[in-house]
This record gives sequence, C-alpha cells and structure tokens, in this order.
Amino acid sequence: MSELPSNAATWQPLPSWQTAIASSALAHRQRWPHALLISGRRGLGKRLLALHFARALLCDAPQESGEACGVCPSCGYVAQGTHPDLQLIEPVIYDEEGNRTPTDAINVERVRELIEFSQLSPHRQRAKVGLIAPAEAMNAAAANALLKTLEEPPAGTFLLLVSHQPARLPPTIVSRCRRLPAPEPERAAAAAWLAQNSIGIADPDLVLAQAGGAPLLALALSAADIQRERDHLLLQLAQPERLSPLAFGARLDSAPKDERKTQLANAVYWLLAWTADLASVAAGAAPSFNPDHRQALTRLAGRVALVPLFRYYRELLGQRALLSHPLQPRWVAEALLIEYRKLFAKGQVN
Ligand SMILES: [Zn+2]
Repeated sequence: MSELPSNAATWQPLPSWQTAIASSALAHRQRWPHALLISGRRGLGKRLLALHFARALLCDAPQESGEACGVCPSCGYVAQGTHPDLQLIEPVIYDEEGNRTPTDAINVERVRELIEFSQLSPHRQRAKVGLIAPAEAMNAAAANALLKTLEEPPAGTFLLLVSHQPARLPPTIVSRCRRLPAPEPERAAAAAWLAQNSIGIADPDLVLAQAGGAPLLALALSAADIQRERDHLLLQLAQPERLSPLAFGARLDSAPKDERKTQLANAVYWLLAWTADLASVAAGAAPSFNPDHRQALTRLAGRVALVPLFRYYRELLGQRALLSHPLQPRWVAEALLIEYRKLFAKGQVN
C-alpha cells in the first residue's frame, strides 16, 4: 500500500508557487531565525521548501540574493541526501539495508540524536541544519527535549520544523519559532507541477480535486492501489444502507500488519473529503473533492441532517489527530463507518 502521509526524502527543485516566498525569506538570511516553523496543509511541498532553505544555509558560496549556488560540493550533498551537516528527523526507521518503514511517532531518542548533532562542530564549516517533518509527530518527551534546544540554541545551528497541523504542537514550541505559512498554488501552477512530476495519470484534474488542489498530495493519491481503496470505500459510502462496517474492518485486517495503519489513515482522509462534500452539496455548492460522485452526493445530501454531519466531521478530524494511537485500525474503521451509517438512519433528528 502506498504511503499517503509523507513524501520521499529526496531533494527536488522548488515548485513555482514557492519561489517568491523563498527568495524573500533568503534575502534576509543574515538574520535567519534559529527555528523556523513552516506550516500548512499536506501536499503543498513544505518539506521541499525546508530543503531549499537547508541547501542555501549550508551552501559553500551562496549567491548575493541569499540563494544556494547549486553547484558547490555542499549543494551536491544536499541534493543527494548525504550532507553531513543536515539531519532529517522523521517518523521513519531505516533498517540495515536502508529500507524506510513509517513509525507512529518521533521519539525522544531521535531528538537526542538531533541535540548531539547540533552540539558537534560542523563538518563543512558553514552551519548545521536539523529538519523535523512533521513536527507534530514528536511525542511529548521528544517535544520536551527539543524545547531545551530551542531555548538555548547552539550557535550556527538552524532548526526547520515542518507541520501539517501546528495546532497539535505544544504552544511552548510554536512560540519559540518564527512562523512561515506555506503558500498555496494557483490551480494552473498545481496542474503544471503535477504534469511535470507524473507519468500517465488518467485524470489529473480529478486527483487534484481529491487532494483539495495540493499538488504533492495529488501525486501520492494517484497511486493505483490508493485509487482502488478509494473506489471501494466510496462505493459503500454512496449506499449507506448496504454499507457493512464489519466487512470493511475484515478487509482492513486482511492487509499486512504494517500497512493497516496507513490504510486506516487513507480511509479517514477519504471519509473527511466525502463528509466535507456532503456539507457543500447540502448547502447548494458543488462537491470539491469528489466531483466524480456528484449524483450520489446530491442524493445523500437530501437525507442527512447538518448538525450530526458536522459533529461527524469533527469526530473524523479528532480521529485523524489520533491516528498513531495503539487501538486496532480495524476497530477504529468499524466505529467510524457505524457512525456514518447512523447519519442516514430513519428517525435521525437534527
Ligand atoms: Zn552551493
């Protein structure tokens, strides 16, 4: 099962919608903050922006504009992901062969590694950069450990925090970072990026819609297995009376163990998008995430009461924030689908 939440660690050229904000930030690199928090919804390329900043901060011969030169050895190491003064902290573990496995959280050991790294002198004399993505994946102990470094940052060390959900970060962390909201792409820029970075997506407009216009998320969603899961789930959501939460749970349980949480996360994403569309259609607007299911959404929107629908949406948001909890993915999926079915039960009152 493809991984929806996080994109690969590799460096890529900056997407067009980020160039303006990147150059205006780098124009002030003399006063670069010790900690920068880049926030915004998933799939906007926040991590690419952070890597762009990292490359500029580590560059051996930065341009007068503050941008990286792009040709020095240091720039090369960042592009290859091998720079000794750049440390990436992600909820991922690597085995001896270098295979990535997503984990639930960034634990305190990873943050301690980052602190040790920041206390060593830089290998290449420029600076040291620690990139934490997403920062909300830090558990409480990890966030606490980081806080001490944020309070007394070692000279020449820059922390870049990327966050999809900054509201989940401790306020003590947020208040010690300079905030940079990630820019949103125009529709045309998003479509152009997707066309450039993908091959053979059958309907790029549809995956962009599914991703709420976020190009990197659209690319992740376009994977065939993710689209199959979407088709399977949406077919059931379209017919609540025939929806079987237990069958869905059993299907989830039949997936390999390490894929179940990812599948649950994806299902919660589709449920959120579907529920948002139901609310839009009920309000007389067009469905923005699932334009290919307009008929079913229109039929269902006439049957659903808005207050329970909003309550359900909030419940899904809460569930998304808790995706790393130890509950069985199967139970969570079943409970969410049972609640969904109730929205359409006869006698449902507002
Ligand atoms: Zn350079």
